[in-house]
Amino acid sequence: MMAGSHIVLGACARVVAARLSGVAPEPAAMAAAALGALLPDIDHPGSWAGRKMRLVSVPLSMVVGHRGVTHSLLAVVAGLAVLGTLGVGFAAAPLVVGYLSHLAADMLTPSGVPLLWPNRRRFALPVCGTGGIVELLLVAALAALTGWATGLPIPRGF
Ligand SMILES: [Zn+2]
Repeated sequence: MMAGSHIVLGACARVVAARLSGVAPEPAAMAAAALGALLPDIDHPGSWAGRKMRLVSVPLSMVVGHRGVTHSLLAVVAGLAVLGTLGVGFAAAPLVVGYLSHLAADMLTPSGVPLLWPNRRRFALPVCGTGGIVELLLVAALAALTGWATGLPIPRGF
């Protein structure tokens, strides 16, 4: 999926997680979820995260390729370990939720994601290609569903 779609779906995931855990979806947490939703594509030098961190994205892309280890549960576990070591703990939950939303969103494309990397099996539930109108409609529908299901107020003018 495209970066804009990942940002929207990361925010949606944060809203759902906040609702389920009984906390408000505060702006800083929403921003952290959006950032987390962009991080897995650091393995692609042309992605938003890849352009911001070329020292990481270029070698990572050359070694494991796009949608490799950064799109796996191993990356999630390693990230949690790093965050735990840094003492960030529960404050990083929105970032992790956003990251997981990215993996789920990429699973909706035909390429899927290698959740069990280094096992090369890809998990996919292909309902849309990357960057097409179907992706746009799907993301819009999921955002609307999130708003409806969580009871978020609809801004005036809509
Ligand atoms: Zn991705």
